[in-house]
Amino acid sequence: MSIVLLGCLLLSFIISGCSLEWESQNETTIAPGSVDSESKLRVIFLDVGQGASQLLISPTGQTMLIDAGNNDREEQMVEYLEQYGVDRLDIVIGTHPDADHIGGLDAVINTVDVGKIYMPKVQANTKTFESLLRSIKNKGLKVTTAKAGLQLDWDEQVDVTMIAPVVNGLDNNNMSAVIKVTYGDTSFLLTGDASSASEKEMIGSGVDLQADVLLVGHHGSKSSTTLSFLNQVNPEYAVIQVGDNSYGHPKETILERLRKKNIEVYRNDLQGTVEITSDGLDYQVTTER
Ligand SMILES: [Zn+2]
Repeated sequence: MSIVLLGCLLLSFIISGCSLEWESQNETTIAPGSVDSESKLRVIFLDVGQGASQLLISPTGQTMLIDAGNNDREEQMVEYLEQYGVDRLDIVIGTHPDADHIGGLDAVINTVDVGKIYMPKVQANTKTFESLLRSIKNKGLKVTTAKAGLQLDWDEQVDVTMIAPVVNGLDNNNMSAVIKVTYGDTSFLLTGDASSASEKEMIGSGVDLQADVLLVGHHGSKSSTTLSFLNQVNPEYAVIQVGDNSYGHPKETILERLRKKNIEVYRNDLQGTVEITSDGLDYQVTTER
């Protein structure tokens, strides 16, 4: 508050006695490069049953969709976007060509405007994959190859880095695009279906894997979330995107591994959609049920 303003207020206080009404004013000074505590990053782990999809909304309203669940959930996927008021996706990422990740992407691309789309350089001989490629082509979009080291231009307050796939030639799951999102002091690691081979490559790449929120790899399968990887990430929160399935996801060994490290676990099959909001310092978790 300036001295002049303070002087005026003091003067009016003297003139009007005690009748002065005070209005509270938040004096937030934002240093350049620091995080505005009013603005929030929303990371929404959408309940798409057995599949995965994360919707991210940046402090300035930029949007990103990572995966879009299975084919049979595509109507729901489009409804989710409507529900969250999203009619444009600045970034779309298809982590890898498995149907439980890219199944709903064709419907999404057919419905909303899309800025940029990233997918790893792997193909699948499936109708689902072909349908996605058709939607991409019809929309006049070009796919940018997802690979480690890419810095994604999204919101200047938020750092979005792709940290996998580190190498080519691995199986589809291990070619998953893995994204680290950092906002102020808070961080999220979104892993697709990356399994032990990719986890090993990520550790070997020397990238800083630490993140407070971890999307548990491959729906809690025992092929992912190796102890060495989990130790490097060292999360406070873990989210498992899982629904009814015949694979036994999430595996008890993985749940036990998370419990032993006192990690707070959230699951789509038990809690519905899970939203984790960050103000750059702290997290707020809300669940559908
Ligand atoms: Zn999957």
